[in-house]
Amino acid sequence: MIISGKTRVCGVIGDPIEHTLSPIMHNAAFNYLGLDFVFFAFNVKTDDLGNAIRGVRGLHFHGLNVTMPHKNAVVNYLDELDPIVKFLGSANTILNKEGALLGFNTDGIGATKALEENNIEMSEKKVVLLGAGGAAKAIAFSLAEEVADLVILNRTVEKAKALAEALSGIFGNKFNGDRLSSEVLTRNLVDSDILINATSLGMKQKPSLNLAVLQGLTSKLTVMDIVYHPIETKLLKDAKAAGSKVISGVEMLIFQAAASFEIWTGFSAPVQVMRKAALNALSR
Ligand code: NAP
Repeated sequence: MIISGKTRVCGVIGDPIEHTLSPIMHNAAFNYLGLDFVFFAFNVKTDDLGNAIRGVRGLHFHGLNVTMPHKNAVVNYLDELDPIVKFLGSANTILNKEGALLGFNTDGIGATKALEENNIEMSEKKVVLLGAGGAAKAIAFSLAEEVADLVILNRTVEKAKALAEALSGIFGNKFNGDRLSSEVLTRNLVDSDILINATSLGMKQKPSLNLAVLQGLTSKLTVMDIVYHPIETKLLKDAKAAGSKVISGVEMLIFQAAASFEIWTGFSAPVQVMRKAALNALSR
């Protein structure tokens, strides 16, 4: 890689940021396609977000990924928002287009692409989505048009109900919000096609989903966990043992990154290269 005065600079901001896989995936993709781009990671504290975005403008950075805890607050510093960003109130991708900062959110498309590319039909299916946080909201919005029935289950039931109601206002009445409990989950899994865990349960150092889920896992179900560290969560292990088709969170990670890459470069993302880079880093 030769860095010159013409090299376009991209990066990711977040706190913490040490474990991000974004530089690994994007630099591998830029190198593979021979693009004159480079990608860095920056630790930005909450109080410094405004300064960081002024830096993006002043230093003419070309593109940015935004991760926790800045996805919501960053929206206030942008010039134009994609419709999905307006609905979610959060952005994970910024394009600097001739000085105007445009905000996008690729989390939802990352999840639906992960399903699509793994040959999972979403059209007219019943989906159970666990969680009503930032990622769950983005996924729900991306799934909303296609699926027949979307049940959102969350520990804080008010958030699940509010999300279902907001989606019903836009897409019609096929959304339900309820409490995340073994009983509600097991009841809903009986006639579901796809289960997506978009809570942080199952992450390293966090508890796993309740064992009672096991009862609802069958061979007709596809189970996607958006948690990617560990690559194979307990939920995915249990689902595999029950004969369900499983999709790991790495797939969503790759496809949300691929969508950002395409926004910045205008080129189709080399998904296999990005997958290999991410899996290599995760297995280290
Ligand atoms: P978030 O906005 O903080 O939402 C967290 C969600 O997890 C909420 O629904 C929360 O429920 C639920 N939760 C947390 N602890 C829980 C517990 N002990 N019991 C039950 N529910 C619990 O976070 P996020 O940004 O949506 O991210 C969620 C997960 O997705 C994280 O692990 C993140 O790393 C992962 N993620 C993966 C990708 C990818 O590309 N694969 C992309 C984005 C995020 P309450 O509302 O009740 O608090």
